[in-house]
Formats: sequence, structure tokens, C-alpha cells
Amino acid sequence: MTDISKATRQQLSDHFSLDIGTVKEKLVSKDGTKKWLLNFGGKADVETVFIPMAASDDGHITGTVCVSSQVGCTLACSFCHTGTQKLLRNLTASEILGQLMHVLHDVGDFPVLKKKPKPRTVTNIGQGEPLLNPTAVFSAISTMTSPKALGLAPWRVTVSTSGVAPTIERISKELRAGLAISLHAVTDELRNELVPLNKQYPIAAVLQACRDYLSHISHENRHRRITFEYVMLKGVNDSLKDAKQLTRLIDQFPAHVNLIPFNPWPGSKYECSTSEAVEAFWKEVRRAGIECTVRTPRGQDIMAACGQLKSSTDMKVAASAI
Ligand code: SF4
Repeated sequence: MTDISKATRQQLSDHFSLDIGTVKEKLVSKDGTKKWLLNFGGKADVETVFIPMAASDDGHITGTVCVSSQVGCTLACSFCHTGTQKLLRNLTASEILGQLMHVLHDVGDFPVLKKKPKPRTVTNIGQGEPLLNPTAVFSAISTMTSPKALGLAPWRVTVSTSGVAPTIERISKELRAGLAISLHAVTDELRNELVPLNKQYPIAAVLQACRDYLSHISHENRHRRITFEYVMLKGVNDSLKDAKQLTRLIDQFPAHVNLIPFNPWPGSKYECSTSEAVEAFWKEVRRAGIECTVRTPRGQDIMAACGQLKSSTDMKVAASAI
């Protein structure tokens, strides 16, 4: 910017950065899902995914961006590929925002032209779990939703958590954002095994946190549902008894259950439930009057499930170092 003084330019470059990450790898699935491995300096590479939905009548495609808040994860959920990667570091707010900005650029949604509005391509944002980096996550979402910045509607942002109970209330109180709970089991005994964080925040504490979350949602918005994520593991958590217990636990909430057919990865000890078991589980949840969907696997040909691109890249790097 040559129309400002040299001193101001120097100050800007000393204190601000326009870095939205360097692309280490970009993959595009045949179903349109895009996945980036971004680098913001140093060793840590960050995964970001864009999942397109069906096109509207005029052919305009909309979709969801999933952004990461950490590189790796400490929680070691036994079914999760990301849990096999050690935590390298928390991301900063600007690195979380950088991921979104990157996708906005890529799909032609940036700059956001308020004077000449055009249909947005990125309509939803998923802030990846576990919610153990809240300072950066809350700061990034505040910027995403600020009218002075990206101006996205707060309820279009969904914060996922594996059940960090003390922070859940703040998602509605401070951000007015949506909430997704990775539940995956209906007894503490099983959840302790699948999601070890449950030993610290058991199911009852997580459900209380959901009630606290809802207490800050205005009456006219009370129809907004909490999403409960439930990975389907063959013979582990997929019985009709589990489905019935799930409905008993969550029928106190405006809820949406998202059943996730398990996506096997090398070395995992679980198998995906049969399609009959998934359907029976789905019917049982629906029978209780709770909205329930079965997640369609997206981007399988580019390993777009959580953590997979990064792990495969790490493996290639490790192999080339031998
Ligand atoms: S499921 Fe989520 S919280 Fe658990 S290890 Fe994987 S990324 Fe971490």
C-alpha cells in the first residue's frame, strides 16, 4: 500500500499478518469434497475440509467448512484416527480463521461484498472438537460472526465437543452458536472406553451442561437442536437397547441424532455396524420422535474423515525418512 507512510507500513508489517496458510496438499474428491493440509509456519500441518451439499435449482452449490482448533488431539478416543496423533499444539485464533479464509478464497466467497450481495457458497461452519482450546476458538468465532468482520450468522457455526462440560454453556452465552456433542455411548462404562474424557466429565455432567447451554437460548430460538453425534460400532454400541437408552437420555432436549457409520482405518479394532443395525437404530430413535439422520460418508477417496489426510502424510514423511 504505497499510499500510506513508510512508518505506518512498517508498523503494520511488525504487528499484523495476512497469512492464511500455505497449501501443503489439496485433494478433491469425486463427490466434490475438498481437503487441504495447510501450514502456518513450523512443523504443524492443519486439516481443513469443505463439504458441498446438493446444488440448488439454479445450480448454486452451498456447503460446510470444517476447521481444526488443534494439531492432533490428546483425548485418544479409541475409535478415532486423530486420537492416534499426538497433540503438537493448539492453533491460534488467526490460524483457525485462516483456514476459513482459505476456503472462502478457494470457493469464491471472499471478499464478502455486502453492497452487492450474492449467494454464499460457504453457509455453515463446523468447529472441530474437542473444545480444549477455548480461548482461540471463541476469539475466532467472534470474528467470523462479527458484523464488522465476516458477518456470518452465529447459528450457522456449530461448535463440536467431546464433552468438555464446563465450557459448553459459554457456546450459547457468549457466541450464540450451535452445539454438537460427541456422545457415542449411553453408559458411563462404555463411554469411559470410547471417549476417555468421560472419566472427567461423565454423561450426567455433559447433559447438565446441555441444559445450561439451552438456558441462554432465547425462547423464539428454542427449536434449535443440539446435535448428538453417535458413531456406529458393530456389536459395541449399536443395539436396540442402546438406541432406547439414547432416546431416554436426550428426549428432554430439542435434539438431532447424527449416526456416523464407522470409517475403518489401519490398526483400528472396530468394525462398522451392519446396515441393518444402523437402520434399526435409526428407526428406534425416530420412533421416539427424535430427528435422526445417518451421515453419508463424504470424500472417502481422499481420506476426508477426521485426521486421515494428516496421518497418511505423516506416514509418507516417516517412510521417506527411513
Ligand atoms: S474423537 Fe475427537 S476428541 Fe476424540 S480423539 Fe478424535 S478428535 Fe480427539
